[in-house]
Amino acid sequence: MTRITVAKGDGIGPEIMDATLAIITAAGANIEIDEIEVGEKVYLAGNTSGIAAESWETIRRNKIFLKAPITTPQGGGYKSLNVTTRKFLGLYSNVRPCMSLHPFVSTKHPLMDIVIVRENEEDLYAGIEHQQTDEVVQCLKLISRPGCEKIVRYAFEYAKQQNRKKVTCFTKDNIMKQTDGLFHRVFDEIAKEYPEIENEHWIIDIGAAKMADTPEIFDVIVMPNLYGDVLSDVAAQITGSVGLAGSANIGEECSMFEAIHGSAPRRAGQNVANPSGLLQGAIMMLNHIGQTSVAEKVQNAWLKTLEDGIHTYDIFKEGISKQKVGTKAFAEAVIGNLGNKPSILKSVSYANNSALTLPKYNRKPAAKKELVGVDVFVHWNGTDPNVLAETIKKMECTGATLSMITNRGIKVWPDGFNETFCTDHWRCRFKPNEGDEMNKTTIIQLLENGLNQNIDTIKTENLYAFDGKAAYSLGQGQ
Ligand code: NAD
Repeated sequence: MTRITVAKGDGIGPEIMDATLAIITAAGANIEIDEIEVGEKVYLAGNTSGIAAESWETIRRNKIFLKAPITTPQGGGYKSLNVTTRKFLGLYSNVRPCMSLHPFVSTKHPLMDIVIVRENEEDLYAGIEHQQTDEVVQCLKLISRPGCEKIVRYAFEYAKQQNRKKVTCFTKDNIMKQTDGLFHRVFDEIAKEYPEIENEHWIIDIGAAKMADTPEIFDVIVMPNLYGDVLSDVAAQITGSVGLAGSANIGEECSMFEAIHGSAPRRAGQNVANPSGLLQGAIMMLNHIGQTSVAEKVQNAWLKTLEDGIHTYDIFKEGISKQKVGTKAFAEAVIGNLGNKPSILKSVSYANNSALTLPKYNRKPAAKKELVGVDVFVHWNGTDPNVLAETIKKMECTGATLSMITNRGIKVWPDGFNETFCTDHWRCRFKPNEGDEMNKTTIIQLLENGLNQNIDTIKTENLYAFDGKAAYSLGQGQ
């Protein structure tokens, strides 16, 4: 018996959750349920995270959370419950299988069978954003070695368990050499430990284009958070319907399972919604808690029901479908098919599908870290970088000489182009002269000189070398 936490959510949530629970219970799922309230009502009651403190206790105690979609109220101030849950509970891995059900669900990609493994905690989703000048805002993209190692290893272990042949990595490391570069490097390192699984890397832009055009050439695809967020929706949509996909959010302790679609408020309360997405989430949950034979039975019954042409409105097609049904009737049809297998679609066998156990991350020995320069960011309303350079040079001190100014990353001094458009946000790079050294005191001196010159410094970024290797990007055009 596994005790799980269930939230019925908003909109179509309660209907599809009731249908899902009816199916898995009929199939023999050995679960006990604690229900909690999340979403719109909780938000509107004044809780900006959409969940009450005592509900966290239930989720953390049970560790397994089956969640229906929720409605995030319009207007500012409401935090995304999904993002908060993933990060609070360390659900680092988002697994989303996207499989075509041709010819029963129409799709341009009849052979598609992809699993997207998305990093779920880092990247631009750290949500660290600032306005720094009148014209410029920034968002910090944070990528960590533990984050990369955990998600890449998860992708390979998943591929191994599921007997999949290839893991592909998507990044944009031709541009983001530090952040995406680390993700790609870790991918190459870990891939070596799995010689039996093919591995490859694609630059995300052409990779995404290829995935949308010829998805059948991909198998498991692993990627950083933002790319995974966007592309997992694309992948689900091109199988024929986002209404059919579920996702698992896996952490070292806790896990959350859900449909990928939202609460579809316009369809709520009409007994028309397709429960398949949440059911797919529930099947992943059953596998995760080791009830693999129940999961297998439900999945085969679901495939058989789709094959029988018993379809909800969202996938109903004259000529393919046989019967248009509502939420409840669809669930009853799946229950009626428990024990049956599809004959045209491939039936599944989940004997080895229990939760993966991955080794804990081992922190690497610290590298030799050396301060080799500093970028001082300045708010300045002028337009001529040569004029700015004259002022900024007055900040210089022993150990810190102005070496470059960039605007939005492109070098504008020395030897800039008149054509380069400049905002009011300037990065001034200081380096020690040959034979000098920079330390933290140098930076304090530099900033004090700036203060005396009425220069509006808005932030500094230290430039480091790790084990003698420069670990920062050059200016574009440098
Ligand atoms: P949505 O996914 O709710 O709906 C998009 C379209 O798909 C609608 O036309 C809807 O009718 C249809 N649809 C979705 N699921 C369906 C199903 N199971 N059966 C039949 N048709 C289905 O997206 P939206 O309209 O952009 O968002 C509605 C609300 O859901 C918003 O408040 C949004 O914030 C929230 N949302 C929640 C989650 C979540 O809780 N995980 C995810 C996405 C959106």
